[in-house]
Amino acid sequence: MNHVVVVGAGLAGVRSVEALRARGFAGTITLIGEEAHRPYDRPPLSKSVLLGGADSTIVDSDLDALEVDFRPRVAAKGLRPGVVETTEGELSYQGLVIATGARPIRLRGEGPQHVLRTIDDALALRALLTAGSRVVVVGAGWIGAEVATAARRAGCEVTVVEAGAGPLAAALGPVGAYTASWYAQAGMDLRLGTAVASVDLGGPALADGSRIEADVVVTGVGVRPSVEWLAGSGVELDDGVVTDEHLRTSLPGVVAVGDCAAWWSRRYGRRLRVEHWDTALSAPEVAAAALLGDDAVYDPVPYFWSEQFGHMVQYAGHHGGGRPVLRGDPAADARWGVCWMAEDDRLAAVLAVNRPRDLLQGRRLIEGGQRLDVDRLADPAVALRDCTVA
Ligand code: FAD
Repeated sequence: MNHVVVVGAGLAGVRSVEALRARGFAGTITLIGEEAHRPYDRPPLSKSVLLGGADSTIVDSDLDALEVDFRPRVAAKGLRPGVVETTEGELSYQGLVIATGARPIRLRGEGPQHVLRTIDDALALRALLTAGSRVVVVGAGWIGAEVATAARRAGCEVTVVEAGAGPLAAALGPVGAYTASWYAQAGMDLRLGTAVASVDLGGPALADGSRIEADVVVTGVGVRPSVEWLAGSGVELDDGVVTDEHLRTSLPGVVAVGDCAAWWSRRYGRRLRVEHWDTALSAPEVAAAALLGDDAVYDPVPYFWSEQFGHMVQYAGHHGGGRPVLRGDPAADARWGVCWMAEDDRLAAVLAVNRPRDLLQGRRLIEGGQRLDVDRLADPAVALRDCTVA
């Protein structure tokens, strides 16, 4: 193999280049990305960038030292075996890394609607978050909560509209409702069970026919994997690029990583597509190994964090409907958490609010698969690692 093409110049793309070089690949690497920027991190976009603390989040990676042919503003349009069709012509490859990430879902309507995925989105939105502006955030998920936090800090009047019964429902199920009080405490109007029909001029129209007047509307209702360019290519798609546990796709010599990849998880016995920074960081090592002929297995305990309403919220695992056990009182304590227990009293997932040690220890317990004493676990004064049973 003497030419690898990496499509998508986000974190997963640049980490793939680094991983290939770290494994001694000495051939040509071409990295194409449709954005104008060098690879950058997205988590700060809804945190320090929106809050005004940073203007750039470029990944600390020396593209010159990596001897990568980086081509910004070049998009892949199609794929056939051995050839990527791009907006600048065809690129032949012996190895291909698909790292095209995901794109935000937009709602219907003619009104101005902001989403937050790119540094350009973040800088444009930041300029509109001025004191007294009426900001409506559609969706009380991770991004919605962080945007609402930044808007309120900037002095905006903030309304958050959520179709579900509580915030963070998609990720945490009913447990997410424990964070609902944070909205009122921050002086925001959180409207649960409220569906937006369309985003019109002047603000969102709700499903019940009413309207919320807004100067700025931000839609944070999720993303879809950016895989349209692979249609008809022979790469199997099903909510992203389908891969095996080595991150190999259905086409020989083609691997997929990051937000666009739906990999087979041995740990969970099902396919997972995880839109987390940690996945974009860690999966490329396994994908590079697979491309170069080794059989490493990708099988992490997924990990995510969010900074919202002054709280550090961290989550690891996959709760899969496990039984939630509270650690602390969300109504009274600044530090609390939830452990989801599988039927055999092993830890399936952990949520840690301002309890970083719970996250670290919980993640290890999920990896190790030890049985836990649920009564001890329910006592937040007992360290998680001291809850194992012999
Ligand atoms: P991306 O970062 O989406 O990169 C893919 C790149 O491919 C993009 O630059 C895209 O333009 C390009 N591309 C797409 N299609 C094509 C094409 N056809 N041709 C060429 N290029 C193409 N995760 C956490 O764990 N914690 C957080 O706190 C957190 N906060 C976040 C905040 C925001 C605002 C956002 C948007 C995401 C956040 N995430 C967070 C998620 C995390 O950033 C993503 O999981 C991560 O960026 C995924 O990296 P990726 O390289 O797979 O995809």
